[in-house]
Amino acid sequence: MDFISNYEESVERFKNACSDAILKSYPIGDHEINVAHFDRSGPCRLVIQAGLHGAEGYAGSAAIIDTIEQVVGKSDWSFSFIHGANPKGMAEGTRLNQNYVDLNRAFASDLEHSNPGYNTLVDILNPKHRFTGKDAINLIKTFVEYKKSGRVNELKEAIAMGQREHPGLLFYIGQRGIDEPEVINLKKIYKRIAEKGQPFIFLDIHTGFFLNEQLIGFVPQAPGTQKFDLIDKLFESSPLTSLEQPDEGFRAVGSSIDYVDSHYENALVMAPEFGTVGSKFSNGNKDHPLYGLDQTTMQLSALIRLVAGLQNRHYSTQESRLFTPSYKSVALAERRLFLPDSKKWQKFFEHRFRTLRDKIMNDEEVLSLNWLS
Ligand SMILES: [Zn+2]
Repeated sequence: MDFISNYEESVERFKNACSDAILKSYPIGDHEINVAHFDRSGPCRLVIQAGLHGAEGYAGSAAIIDTIEQVVGKSDWSFSFIHGANPKGMAEGTRLNQNYVDLNRAFASDLEHSNPGYNTLVDILNPKHRFTGKDAINLIKTFVEYKKSGRVNELKEAIAMGQREHPGLLFYIGQRGIDEPEVINLKKIYKRIAEKGQPFIFLDIHTGFFLNEQLIGFVPQAPGTQKFDLIDKLFESSPLTSLEQPDEGFRAVGSSIDYVDSHYENALVMAPEFGTVGSKFSNGNKDHPLYGLDQTTMQLSALIRLVAGLQNRHYSTQESRLFTPSYKSVALAERRLFLPDSKKWQKFFEHRFRTLRDKIMNDEEVLSLNWLS
């Protein structure tokens, strides 16, 4: 698998790989979401969406290109690839779109949404200046306080649920009643795919946040449903691959997979998230006594990179972006949260992704289409 981290190059490579497909572009400002449909007569369609969180789109792009090169020509399945679902974010190396919206929380703009837990953290997550070492220490202190008092889940919920009250600040999910331009176009794209008539497997690829040995599967369906059980089984394909929502108990609303699942009965939907953060002590071994410490360190490290990245974006001029070493190092740390440049991680990603994809495309239960009923 070939990983690149340049937006223009990535788009060009995608378009070149899709010369046999129906290619459609959906402009978003100066950028575009690119979609390729390979329409065939086979039993199913595989849909891969990448880059809904912009910066995560580079690993996703590698997965899409790999699928076109390795699988599309040899299979009678149909395929649709959504490349750069958040193109501006991808070009800028951020999770967010141009309105600072987290698009994977923005598919339910009609819903009322409140997150009081976020309001108590708003100043810590959004210092009113460029990010400094002092802010990092404040974040660590806050994290430790929540941990000491057994309120880590409360902290996670406050963060993962997103917020509608503070535009431009961390974890913003957009304005009520107004869909972001990417969301408007993606809804059209999903409709077009569904109207092609075949049942489809929808994979929304994400990277970040978990330990780099882990592949976590997110599913819209509840445990006990047929679709959940089927996806659970698909994720069991390797000992390091699991379907789990660590510390469950809350759910973010407005995700793309929730939207597709609730609108299209003929879709089997999942979001694989490939962990990117190193495990210093346990080497990914869940039985290691320091595994928990790795989890904590990783969560903190990811949070610090997100806060620092956004603060520097808010408070840097173009000039200082180019010349300040601290901006460069923050930007690099943020980029590595979504696309680590270690060969070892890239091998992890390649192996996990191919295993999951091949498992899906060869699984008897998937092929039986019983999940449609
Ligand atoms: Zn993501």
